[in-house]
Amino acid sequence: MPDAASALHKIPSVERMMQSLGPIALPRPRVVSLVRDELALVRGESVIPGFEAIVDRVRIRIEAERLGRIQPVINGTGVLLHTNLGRAPIGLAVADAVVQVATQYSNLEYDLLQGERGGRASYLESSLAQLCEAEAATIVNNCAAALILILRCFTRGEKKDVLISRGELVQIGGGFRIPDILEASGARLREVGTTNRTGLEDYRRAINADTAMILKVHQSNFFMEGFVGAPDTSELAALARDHGIRFVEDLGSGSMVPVESVCSAERDPTAAQVLRQGVDLVCFSGDKLLGGPQAGIIAGRKSLVCELKQEPFFRALRCDKLILTALQATVEAYLEAGSEHARLALTIPLMEMMSVPLEELRERGRAIVAALADLPVRVELGEGQSRIGGGTLPKTRIASVTIDLLPVAGGLEALAGRMRHGNPAVIGYVSSGKFRLDLRTIQPRQDARLVEAIQGAVVPKKGGNPI
Ligand SMILES: *Cc1c(COP(=O)(O)O)cnc(C)c1O
Repeated sequence: MPDAASALHKIPSVERMMQSLGPIALPRPRVVSLVRDELALVRGESVIPGFEAIVDRVRIRIEAERLGRIQPVINGTGVLLHTNLGRAPIGLAVADAVVQVATQYSNLEYDLLQGERGGRASYLESSLAQLCEAEAATIVNNCAAALILILRCFTRGEKKDVLISRGELVQIGGGFRIPDILEASGARLREVGTTNRTGLEDYRRAINADTAMILKVHQSNFFMEGFVGAPDTSELAALARDHGIRFVEDLGSGSMVPVESVCSAERDPTAAQVLRQGVDLVCFSGDKLLGGPQAGIIAGRKSLVCELKQEPFFRALRCDKLILTALQATVEAYLEAGSEHARLALTIPLMEMMSVPLEELRERGRAIVAALADLPVRVELGEGQSRIGGGTLPKTRIASVTIDLLPVAGGLEALAGRMRHGNPAVIGYVSSGKFRLDLRTIQPRQDARLVEAIQGAVVPKKGGNPI
């Protein structure tokens, strides 16, 4: 047994560890803290490892830390709006507009015409309203915030009841449950109808002196088939109007163009279509089918939008100038494209991914497979099925092309791990004995780096990735 004093003597100093680690792409205080944590562990061990072993252990910690940083990844999952992977990427032109506003002063709340304080993003609000064919529109942090704001504002008084069909009491991703949101907003939930069928009469019977509004919620990430039924939006709108109560629809996905005109997608109503049926207000996400930045958009009757903007809570939910700028460039792209939906693919990556022809993916795939010909693993082109994701269009599948890596030494899950841990990180999926990467969600400009990442993961460099 070595005595404690001589064992402690073998524990290296932080400085010696830092020198041995060399340059690390993390702030030095982060690395020092990881070194300290590891040395503290070592101190508690009965057998003190050798210096190199301790350095290796720290390198594993550093690598895990590096993977925790927010960074670009290559999305080979085939899920276009992957909530875990940041939903919609924005286009380079949109990002450039953000850089311009982010790095200089801007007229965010300044009226250049009059030389005085101006409305925040009033041009964007009116452009959004035009796009949605609404009287007015405004923007908050995300669709969940939009819903909370609407519920708080319109159930502030004596009337607190909100009627929702039992078929629409849904849970969206990330633990977002409609009944919880209602409760958190101070509204009172009045369930109407049944899970599979809710009729106009169900709503009519539920209306009483306490009813503040009818809320319709897009089922988003699931669908029901069979003995199902819900009243027409226009009938529901008439009912709400007759009783002087508000009628709001949470659209969630928020497509601005009929998606079935962009790819072989299921139908999903646009905000304009829903408003035309007499809904007072709609809310939807900026980073779902719109293909813009994270935001919650509210559009509809002007008097109601004005009321929302006066709600004290609105100030706490407002968007940052970078988001507003990205949204402005996105909305302008829609207005400029008009009914020529194909033009959207030039500015909105989501639209490009939805509409890129199979043959174009095949061509890229063949080039990638050719570039990987020397690898000690079989690489083939496969057929895939991309999904839209983000809780939108649950039935839609778009035929796609995949790069398939066939059984490799060490197993597919280990390969998937090495791909994830690479730089850039690449996320694929394992299915039918293959590691697969869907090309529809991989941008053409990422192809060269993808080839390098695959090479690096199949034939790990000596002294490379320690994880
Ligand atoms: C996705 C979704 C939301 C939440 O939108 P966020 O922008 O993520 O806050 C709310 N309602 C519905 C119906 C949705 O699909």
